[in-house]
Amino acid sequence: MNKIGIDLGGTKIEGILLNENFEKIERKRIPTNQDQGYDSILNSISELIQDLRTKSNVETSIGICTPGVLSKNTGLIKNSNTQCLIGKPLKTDLEKILEQKISMENDANCFTLAEATLGAGKNFDIVFGVIIGTGVGGGIAVRKNIHTGRTNIAGEWGHHCIRPDGNQCYCGKSGCLETYISGPALERHWAKLTYKTEPLQEIVKKLDSETGKRWKEDFIENFALGLANVIDILDPDAIVLGGGVSNIDFLYDEGKNAVYEKVFSDQIDTPILKNELGDSSGVLPM
Ligand SMILES: [Zn+2]
Repeated sequence: MNKIGIDLGGTKIEGILLNENFEKIERKRIPTNQDQGYDSILNSISELIQDLRTKSNVETSIGICTPGVLSKNTGLIKNSNTQCLIGKPLKTDLEKILEQKISMENDANCFTLAEATLGAGKNFDIVFGVIIGTGVGGGIAVRKNIHTGRTNIAGEWGHHCIRPDGNQCYCGKSGCLETYISGPALERHWAKLTYKTEPLQEIVKKLDSETGKRWKEDFIENFALGLANVIDILDPDAIVLGGGVSNIDFLYDEGKNAVYEKVFSDQIDTPILKNELGDSSGVLPM
C-alpha cells in the first residue's frame, strides 16, 4: 500500500505520496488561504489528496498532521492557531468526502516523531520536538513513540505562561510563550521597537543596531525561559527545533547558553539541535 502524507500549515498545505519503502512518488504544495475559512481549507485538502491518489496505481493510506489536536471527548479540533479549524470535525468531514479512514495527528507531534525516528533526534531516547513558526508547538517522543497525554495536549509549550500580565493570546490566556517567540510575534515586537513592519528574514540582518540588540536580547530571554521550563520538568535527552524561526543560527549558541543558565541543575548539556529533515518533515507519513 502507498502512503499519502499531508502537512496542514498556517500558510501552506504540503502533500507527499510515498511507496511502501518511503520513496517519494510525488510532492505538491498549495496555499492554505486561511482567510477563506474552513470550507475552503476542507476543499483544498481533499482536492490535494484526490490529486495525489490519481498518481498511485495501488491503494493508499492517508495521514494528516494539523495545527491543533482532536479533542478526545468530541472529535473536534481544539487548540489550533489556524483558528477557523477550532470546533470543526475535520477528520470526519474528510473521511466522508474521501470515503476512506484517515489518521490525524498534531503537527508538532508529527515533526517530533519524524525527527526522533529518522532525523536529528534518532540517537536519543527522550526527544522534545519544537516547532517555532506561525505558532509555537511541541511534542514529546519517548523511544520513538509519541506521548500524547491524557487529553492530547502533552508538549504544548507554546501556551505555557511566561508572563502572567503579558501579551493577550488567542487562546484566552495572557503571557503565552507563543505571543513572544512565534514568527509573527517576533515581527510585532520589531514593529513596536522600530515602528517598521519587516519580515523576520530582514530583521535578523539588522541586529548590530541598538534596537537590533534589544530585540535579540528579548527574543533570547523568552526563548530561554520557555525551554528551561521544559528541561526542568521533562529533562529530555535532546531538543530538536523546527519551523521557520529555527533557521536563526544564534539560537544554537547564544540561545542555548541562555537556556542552560536558567535550568535548575548543576550540570546541563542537553543538546539543542536543528532539524535534519527540513521545515516540513511533519509531512512524512510515519
Ligand atoms: Zn495561548
